[in-house]
Amino acid sequence: MEEISADVVIIGSGPAGQKAAIQASKAGKKVIVVERQNEPGGNCLFSGTIPSKTLREAIIDLTRFHERNFYSFDYHIGDVTISALNNRLQKVIEEEKNMVDRQFKKNNIRLLTGTARFENPHMLILVDPDYRLLYQIQSPYFIIATGSKPRNPNNIPFDNEVILDSTTLLSLNKVPKTLLVLGGGIIGSEYASFFAALGTEVTIIDKKDHILPMLDAEIGIHLQTALTDIGLRFFGNKEPETISKVENRAVVKFKDGTSLEADALLYALGRTANVDALHLENIGIQINEKGYIPVNALFQTVLPQIYAVGDVIGGPCLASTSMEQGRLAARHLCGAQTHHFPSFYPVGIYTIPEISCCGYTEEELKELGFHYEVGRAYYYEIARSHIVGNNVGMFKILFHAETLEILGVHIIGRSATEVIHIGQLAINFHAKINFFIDQVFNYPTYAEGYRVAALNGFNKIKRKK
Ligand SMILES: Cc1cc2nc3c(=O)[nH]c(=O)nc-3n(C[C@H](O)[C@H](O)[C@H](O)COP(=O)(O)OP(=O)(O)OC[C@H]3O[C@@H](n4cnc5c(N)ncnc54)[C@H](O)[C@@H]3O)c2cc1C
Repeated sequence: MEEISADVVIIGSGPAGQKAAIQASKAGKKVIVVERQNEPGGNCLFSGTIPSKTLREAIIDLTRFHERNFYSFDYHIGDVTISALNNRLQKVIEEEKNMVDRQFKKNNIRLLTGTARFENPHMLILVDPDYRLLYQIQSPYFIIATGSKPRNPNNIPFDNEVILDSTTLLSLNKVPKTLLVLGGGIIGSEYASFFAALGTEVTIIDKKDHILPMLDAEIGIHLQTALTDIGLRFFGNKEPETISKVENRAVVKFKDGTSLEADALLYALGRTANVDALHLENIGIQINEKGYIPVNALFQTVLPQIYAVGDVIGGPCLASTSMEQGRLAARHLCGAQTHHFPSFYPVGIYTIPEISCCGYTEEELKELGFHYEVGRAYYYEIARSHIVGNNVGMFKILFHAETLEILGVHIIGRSATEVIHIGQLAINFHAKINFFIDQVFNYPTYAEGYRVAALNGFNKIKRKK
C-alpha cells in the first residue's frame, strides 16, 4: 500500500471528474483522479453518451436513413449487423479515451486505479476488487464525481441477452426483430428510435400517457408522430407487474391484466447514484430521499471541503451539465472567480428525429402567467431540409408579447442539437424576437428556421396591435 497526498482528490473520471481535474490543475493544484475502472472516461464514454450517440450516427449512415426519401432501395432488418455498428463504436471509444489520457498527462493529473472509500473527511482509501488496500490518500479537498448506474430492481431477471439495461444492451450480438422498451424517458426513447430505424419492431411502454413528458407538449406530439411514422408503437398508462424470460423471450405482464412479449427488453426506468462504495457514513454525508448527494449552489456537500458534481447529485444528469458543474466546483475550491450554474442551458435528446430545447416551455409560461406569443417554422418551409431529404421538424420560439424578450426555444428535427445554441445565446443575452428578423442567415441552412419562426411570431403581434 502506498501513502500519498494531494491538494485535491477527484473520485471518478467521467465528464464531471475530468473537467474538475483539469480546472484544478490549471489553477496550480496537485491533482489526483481515482477511478475504479481500468480506463478513464466514466460511464459517459463506455456505456452512456458516447456509445449511444455513436450507434445513432452509425445506424443513420448504414441504413441510409435520410437517403431513403430520395433513392428507392430495399432495406431489410439484418442488413446492418451489430459487428458493423461495433466497429465504429470501438474506434470512437479508442479516440475519446486517448484524448482523456492526453489531457490528463498534459495537465500533470495523476490517475490511480481503485475503488475509493472515505476513511475520514481528510483521507480516502483505494481498494482493488478483492478489497485489498492499494493507496491511502490524504487531501484537504475532495470532489465526488462517481456518476450513476441503471436502477435495476432485484426481482427482474437481467441476463445480458434478453432482459437488458442501457449498459448491457451494448453487448447484444444481433439486431432483435422485436423489442420492448420499458420507460419513455430520454434513454428509453433514444434507443427505441435507433432500433426502429434499424428495422426492429419496437414498443415503448410507460406509466405516463405520453413519452418525454418534460418536453414542450407540442414538440412531444411532433415527436410521437415522427416515431409512429418509423413504425414505433407506444402504450401509455401501463405499469409492469412481472417481467420474465420464457423460452429465450422477454415476457411482461402488466397491472391491467395485459401482456406483451418480444425478442429483447430494454429496462429504462431510471438511474441511481454510485454512492455505495464510498462509505459516506464515515464522513457524515447523508444521501437524499432519491439517493443522491445533496449539495448547495456551489456544489459543496454538508462538509464544505467535500464537493459533489455530475450524476451523483441528481438531475439534469447530462454529460454537458456535469462538465460545467465539475469546472465550477474546482474553481470555487481553488478560490478562483466563479459564477453560479446557468439558469438556461440546452437539453439535447438524440431520438430520431433529434430534439433540443432551452428556456421555458409553453406550459410553464402559462402556469407562470406570462403574456407570451409563439413563432413557429416547420422544416418543410426551410430549403435546407428539402435538400438533405427530411422534412420532419419544427422550430418553436416563445417570447414575451410586450417586451418581445425570447423566453424559450424548442426545436425538433435534424441538427436541432447544434442550432439550439443560437437560441441559447439569444435567451442568455436577453435578445428580443426582432433580433432574429434583423439578421442575415446563411442560406440554405437549418438556422434560417430562427428567422422564419421569428417572422411568424412577430407578425402575430403586429396583427393584434
Ligand atoms: C444511454 C445514455 C445516453 C446518454 N446520452 C447523453 C447525451 O446524449 N448527452 C448528455 O449530455 N448526457 C447523456 N447521458 C448522460 C451522461 O452520460 C451522464 O450525465 C454523465 O456520464 C455523467 O457524468 P459523471 O462524470 O457524473 O459520471 P460518469 O460518467 O457516470 O462517471 C463516473 C465514474 O466514477 C467511477 N466511480 C464510481 N464510483 C467510484 C468509486 N467508489 N471509486 C472510484 N471510481 C468510482 C465510475 O467507474 C465512473 O467511471 C447519457 C447517459 C446514458 C446512460
